[in-house]
Amino acid sequence: MAELLTFVLGDVFGVVTLVVGILIGFWLGRLWAKYIQPHQMPAPPEGESTVYREQLAGMIQFTSHFTGDLSKHIELLENLEQKLAHPEGDQPVADDGPSAKAVELIAQITAANQKLKQRLESAEATLKTQSQELEDTLSEARTDALTQLLNRRAFDEERERRWALWQRKQQPFSLLILDIDHFKRVNDTYGHDAGDQVLREVAARLNSVMRKTDYLARIGGEELAILVPEADGTSVSTVAMKVLNVVRSLPVEYGQMSIEVTVSCGLMPVIHADGLETLTKGADAALYAAKAAGRNCGFLNDGESLIPIESQTSLPAQHGESPATSQPSSTKDESEPTARIQVSELDSAANELKNRLFLISQNIMP
Ligand code: GH3
Ligand code: MG
Ligand code: MG
Repeated sequence: MAELLTFVLGDVFGVVTLVVGILIGFWLGRLWAKYIQPHQMPAPPEGESTVYREQLAGMIQFTSHFTGDLSKHIELLENLEQKLAHPEGDQPVADDGPSAKAVELIAQITAANQKLKQRLESAEATLKTQSQELEDTLSEARTDALTQLLNRRAFDEERERRWALWQRKQQPFSLLILDIDHFKRVNDTYGHDAGDQVLREVAARLNSVMRKTDYLARIGGEELAILVPEADGTSVSTVAMKVLNVVRSLPVEYGQMSIEVTVSCGLMPVIHADGLETLTKGADAALYAAKAAGRNCGFLNDGESLIPIESQTSLPAQHGESPATSQPSSTKDESEPTARIQVSELDSAANELKNRLFLISQNIMP
């Protein structure tokens, strides 16, 4: 009776194991095709990839539990085998009796299960490796290779997420857009590699003043953006001032050269925007104002006007000292941004410029 029960148990277990094996194989095949061949396949959409990542983690957990269960099962069979081979009272078992057959059967089942356990363990190891590869692939798709900052794609998603939180839970945030001043001049003067070094150094400096809740990304060539979780003009201006100061505080060293670097910054709190597009355009308009006001400064867009951030915060501006090189300048190009610039004035100036360019392109103007 015991033998029959064991036989049935072992058989059922074997079949279940086989089915799980097939399932894992199928799953690995799908994952391999979908993610582990990123050079042939486009990166998966983020929402979908999170689901797959979670499912993969669940599968690893399941496989490891299953391996544990199988170990217990094998132990049980070994015990039974021992009991049948050496029954109580130490009476020897007849060589060709039913018990001897049962012992042989159980030994075969145990051996088969051992093999299955090994295969399962190696499936578990494969799953872990592939999970790591998947993790790496997904993180590469969201990271900028030069600066190691988050990239535009990651930033756009986070911006959407924070907008949704603002809509649903009134959790405010502000958008800061930063642009390195005269970066083309840096490239032209010191070479493209030096420009790359400046980008890396600026990214590292910005990272050093970010808080955990801030979200910093490289959104374009020499353009960076930060999402900060507050919308109060004074606090956001203080963040922007810190950012300007940390960049201009020291020249970037590249070989024997010292390169003066500054950034301009435009910011807008979400409370002044009626949509993500307005927010982005608003921060861009503030950045444009900072460039127009001489660079190396920041403007805040409060929905009605563009205000120099230095007038919003008590944090002193720390301008770089005695530049080792003359370009780009560590002080403002032209005038200090003290007066408010009306958004409408900038809009009309931009429109006029656009019109002129259009007319020139159409050869209407001389
Ligand atoms: P402004 O102060 O008005 O922003 O002037 P700018 O020279 O910084 O702006 P412009 O748009 O004229 O030039 C940006 C330059 O940035 C041009 C482009 O070659 C350079 N650039 C973009 N991406 C990279 C990069 O990854 N590495 C390097 N070295 N240069 C880059
Ligand atoms: Mg730019
Ligand atoms: Mg620039």
